[in-house]
Amino acid sequence: MAQGYSSIGTKLFWAIGVPGLIAAVAGVWLFWRQADAAVAESNQAEAEALAELFASSFAIAQQDPSAPHGTDAHSAHRAVTDLFRSRGRIVDNLRWASVTDGAGRIVWSRHGEDGSAPRAPTAGKDGSAQVVRHLGGAECTGCHANSQQLGTLSLSVQQPKLQAMVASVFGRALTGVLALFAVLLAVMVIALRVFLVRPLRRLTQVMRKAEEGDFLSRAPVTSRDELGALAEAFNRMLAKITSLRAQEIDTHRDLERAQQELVLKQALEATNESLEKRINEQSLLFDVARSLTSTLELDEIFARISTLVGERLKVPRFSIMLRRGDTLEVKSAWPRDAGTEGVTFAVGEGACGRAAQTQTSLYIPDLEKDAGIYIRRPEEQPPKGSLLAVPMIHKGEVLGVINLERPTPNGFAQNEIEVLSAVADLAAISTRNALLYEETVALSITDPLTGAANRRHMFARLELEVARALRYQTPLSVLMVDIDHFKHLNDTAGHRAGDAVLRQVCDVLRESTRKVDTLARYGGEEFLLILPQVAKAEALEAAEKLRRAVNEAPIEEGRGQPFGRVTISVGVAALHQDADALEALVDCADAALYASKRNGRNRATAYEPGMEAHPGRERGPLAAKRRRTGEVPSSTSSKGSA
Ligand code: GH3
Ligand code: MG
Ligand code: MG
Repeated sequence: MAQGYSSIGTKLFWAIGVPGLIAAVAGVWLFWRQADAAVAESNQAEAEALAELFASSFAIAQQDPSAPHGTDAHSAHRAVTDLFRSRGRIVDNLRWASVTDGAGRIVWSRHGEDGSAPRAPTAGKDGSAQVVRHLGGAECTGCHANSQQLGTLSLSVQQPKLQAMVASVFGRALTGVLALFAVLLAVMVIALRVFLVRPLRRLTQVMRKAEEGDFLSRAPVTSRDELGALAEAFNRMLAKITSLRAQEIDTHRDLERAQQELVLKQALEATNESLEKRINEQSLLFDVARSLTSTLELDEIFARISTLVGERLKVPRFSIMLRRGDTLEVKSAWPRDAGTEGVTFAVGEGACGRAAQTQTSLYIPDLEKDAGIYIRRPEEQPPKGSLLAVPMIHKGEVLGVINLERPTPNGFAQNEIEVLSAVADLAAISTRNALLYEETVALSITDPLTGAANRRHMFARLELEVARALRYQTPLSVLMVDIDHFKHLNDTAGHRAGDAVLRQVCDVLRESTRKVDTLARYGGEEFLLILPQVAKAEALEAAEKLRRAVNEAPIEEGRGQPFGRVTISVGVAALHQDADALEALVDCADAALYASKRNGRNRATAYEPGMEAHPGRERGPLAAKRRRTGEVPSSTSSKGSA
């Protein structure tokens, strides 16, 4: 029995057994009382009958005419008194009897008491009945004159045997009731155990198992009563629960399957998303490759990278740097108004410098935490977010760095970094090609010895300037420069020294001219300068300035020259004024140069009409073509000498 529970048998005992016992005992006691009352009533009747018998004995004695008065005449009376004094069966129950006279003295008693006080009545206390009868009247008139009140008869009757029998019967009845109760109690306990407590315990055990999750147990149905019905109902409930449990398991299994399908679906979606991302990345790389390989202009390449990175990769802030020697210069930046274009970093300086130095991408997930690598000056506040510096590497050479920033920390995913590295590699190839193209273009228009424009480029440029000057009627002058006694320098100092002098003279000329002017090596030791927007007088001043500059230049190799230094002669000619076409203009400058030579060299001369043409120069369309291509004419005559 579980703790806190009391047995139903005990309850039934208290509810039925004890009241039953009390009722049985009370019943026996009541019947006992009734029997006692009947005995008392019987005593009373017997006492009254004896009293009447006693009184009637006087009457009989009086009515018998044969009987003489006196003692014998009262023989009937005496017979009765004798009977009363005897121990016969009739008066067996008579305890005592007495007759008192009018004065209260006992005149007769069963036991012969005489003159003593009458015995106190004891009726009811010991089960006896007592009767008091007045003697007198008719039964005594025969013998007594004054027979109204002669005395009083008192007698007491008791039935001790009957009383003992009643007591014995009811005592046995009480014992029988108790014994029956004991037997009934035992039977009830056994019956309760067998029919109620045990089945209930079994049912409780099954219920407890079910409570612990064992829904397959069943309560034994041992009877066709309420307990059996209860067990059957409980079993039906268990069967229902088992079925519900099976349904729940099925539902759970379905749910698990659905969850697995959901996980698979999510994985599939993630894979699709990843594939879509990859396709986008590949598409971006394809677009970058196609876009970058379709141009050889460096600025255009940077502009296209900017567009692609900004629009496709949604990077809000970035810059593209080009490496020149040990310097990284921002060539293109977004946003445009950031003011970073033209900013330079040394290789090894800052995040971009380190990326260039180590030739690996440098990722700073949180700029606030790793500010030291980003800022250049201690007072500078680093921006918030993340930074990625990707070097543009081609064949082991760093050509530049792409810097990308996002305003949030951890703004770049690993695959994005990989894509940007691939973009940087493509950008590096395009940059290399553009730089090569730039070099090729530069070489094609430059004289390799002096770095000045070559003859072909000079004519192209001059053609353009002449056309513009003619169209807009703006001034245009040209200067023809020739190093004096250069053959002598070659002959005395050697060709290598001659080359060095050529370079130094070219440098002096370059330093002394404006950026808009074009300095070209016309051929041999001759240079031509195109001065747009410069009239003849100013051109002559410029020529004189150039002459002085060379004259004063500390050119070591010129010490052995006839003038003790390197000098130049200059001829000046102006469009509109001296000629209206390119060839004529050049010829005029040449004639002016020849004049300078003839007049002693180391001087500048402006063309004047009638000036003698250089005897070594060809004239005419064929000569013009040759001049353009740099082809040397078959015959050159000697120059004039001062
Ligand atoms: P001037 O002009 O004063 O009349 O005398 P010059 O000696 O300078 O005249 P000329 O035209 O006879 O000589 C030009 C010389 O320049 C001839 C050639 O050997 C030399 N020369 C031409 N091109 C080069 C060059 O690229 N390098 C060197 N070292 N010499 C060159
Ligand atoms: Mg010369
Ligand atoms: Mg010459």
